[in-house]
Amino acid sequence: MDVLDKLKILADSAKYDASCSSSGSQRKNKNNGIGNGHISGICHSWGADGRCISLFKILLSNSCLYDCKYCINRCTNSVKRATFTPKEVADLTIHFYKRNYIEGLFLSSAVIKSPDYTMEQLIQTVSILRNEYHFNGYLHCKTIPGCSKELIDQLAKLVDRLSINIELPSASSLKLLAPQKEKNAILEPMSYISKRYLSK
Ligand code: SF4
Repeated sequence: MDVLDKLKILADSAKYDASCSSSGSQRKNKNNGIGNGHISGICHSWGADGRCISLFKILLSNSCLYDCKYCINRCTNSVKRATFTPKEVADLTIHFYKRNYIEGLFLSSAVIKSPDYTMEQLIQTVSILRNEYHFNGYLHCKTIPGCSKELIDQLAKLVDRLSINIELPSASSLKLLAPQKEKNAILEPMSYISKRYLSK
């Protein structure tokens, strides 16, 4: 599968993460007008100075080990699957940045192989951007529930924003709808990040 095919699948899969989505209209150009509305691919965030930032919104992979009933990427669902290499995401980000399509990256992923393995892939992606390509723009990454604290630390040193999805309001609903996720695996990283980075 080439990078363009992966891009179609993984930009589309990322649109369901509504945390900062603002690219919600699908509309084709007509009558020789200018531009198209597209439902996925770019989302927006806001900098500390109130400036709106366009972000390349993508999943590293939608091949998930887990079976969360509410999620289109659950392992029991029949959807097209794809996984980028870290370098592919880094290269796309740099190319889009240089063309002025985007000002940063919002990267998340399904759970590939294990939470730690997935975090390592995310770290490698942003590490290529920061350390090899010297990209100094905005980077937002999701942490993966159940990963180790050491990996959260490594990722936190490379990105501007780190977040984790709350998923569901109670342990019982989590058990019912996302049986492979544990309440503590979601709450502990949040508490760790807030104690370690926000209370300073
Ligand atoms: S772990 Fe994430 S990507 Fe995988 S099924 Fe659950 S919500 Fe979807």
